[in-house]
Amino acid sequence: MPDPRRAIPRTDAVLAEPRVAKAAGTLGRDLVKAAVRAAQQAARAGEIAAEDVVDAVLARLPASAASLRPVVNATGVVVHTNLGRAPLSAAALDALVAAGGATDVEFDLATGERARRGRGALAALAAAVPDAGAVHVVNNNAAALLLCALALAPGREIVVSRGELVEIGDGFRIPDLLESTGARLREVGTTNRTSLRDYAEAIGPDTGFVLKLHPSNYRVTGFTSEVALGELAGLGVPVVADIGSGLPAPHPILPDEPDAATALRAGATVVTASGDKLLGGPQAGLLLGDADVVERLRRHPAARALRVDKLTLAALEATLRGPEPPVRAALDVSLDCLRQRAEALVQALDGVDARVVSSVAAVGGGGAPGVELPSVAVSLPARYAVALRTGEPAVVGRVERDRCLLDLRTVRPEEDVRVRQAVRRCG
Ligand SMILES: *Cc1c(COP(=O)(O)O)cnc(C)c1O
Repeated sequence: MPDPRRAIPRTDAVLAEPRVAKAAGTLGRDLVKAAVRAAQQAARAGEIAAEDVVDAVLARLPASAASLRPVVNATGVVVHTNLGRAPLSAAALDALVAAGGATDVEFDLATGERARRGRGALAALAAAVPDAGAVHVVNNNAAALLLCALALAPGREIVVSRGELVEIGDGFRIPDLLESTGARLREVGTTNRTSLRDYAEAIGPDTGFVLKLHPSNYRVTGFTSEVALGELAGLGVPVVADIGSGLPAPHPILPDEPDAATALRAGATVVTASGDKLLGGPQAGLLLGDADVVERLRRHPAARALRVDKLTLAALEATLRGPEPPVRAALDVSLDCLRQRAEALVQALDGVDARVVSSVAAVGGGGAPGVELPSVAVSLPARYAVALRTGEPAVVGRVERDRCLLDLRTVRPEEDVRVRQAVRRCG
């Protein structure tokens, strides 16, 4: 009997196979070599036949050189922080790819001279929020707040209600972030109630600005009162309004969610927001407001450390100018449409214990706490949850009452086919 292990192809031979060589061209040799070693190991262990090594290598290759895996978000949480918040629109993805090489991000092709960095994205943002005298974009909303504290309250006080001292997640807290700049927090009021007098009594020569922060991941209910932005604007000091989720204008199904236009009209000096929550774009921090104040922010030395790259600028502009991004589509889709898609999916899954059920979706940590979005889900036996999550593509649903629910509000219609195939593979 010849030793079957001698038939296992050598690494060089596998790497020379045309399909494997092509993969090495896009993924890099190291990733492919690792897959070759794993396949050879499997052949040595007798798990696969020696002649199947090339196929095993190809099957083991990752889809891209980065380890981040694409996920179908079937959780029903529209802005899911752990799944990367807003999925980008096709227009934003195209813009990202186009901007990946050398691009005129800071260059005027007509004159051949340096130009204002990201002017297209800034113009698109200004057009989306005409009430803003000027706009600026930084790395994220936390960076936007940091820049406000550094530029507008160095060594001075930021007056903020005790009801708005937010922990944003992963142990990070806005008060700590602000104090890390050397600014001092002047907390006013109580957790549940803060009055205009509380603010007025705290304001003095040391005041840098008043901060009005939207508690976007919790709600204080019951015996509560807070001071409207319009009243704070009358106090005679700058007011920074962190609206959180980044709606440019009011959204009809989220009446309690603050938006940039309303905050500016109420008198906010500067509005800060995230780009990757309800705006539906890339991670970014939006700064909108008084032209002189925004210019001070833009010119502060720290602004350079917080600036965004060309990819963010490209995706942000395309989000603002292009068709409705997925997050907005997930808010606006009708229940009828969701039900039809669920029924089509269940029908295509005959033989699987799949049913159409009513569901409740949510905006997510990114905004609108407590708001329930009626939705429709495909309900499967609970055991599907793990299989779907670890499959390719990964489909992440949620388990409720011993069933795995795939909530279609957060699944893009063009992903339905992949969901069907994924469920079939797990069957
Ligand atoms: C999400 C959020 C932040 C943090 O924004 P990032 O863009 O994640 O830095 C800050 N403030 C509020 C009110 C938020 O909702």
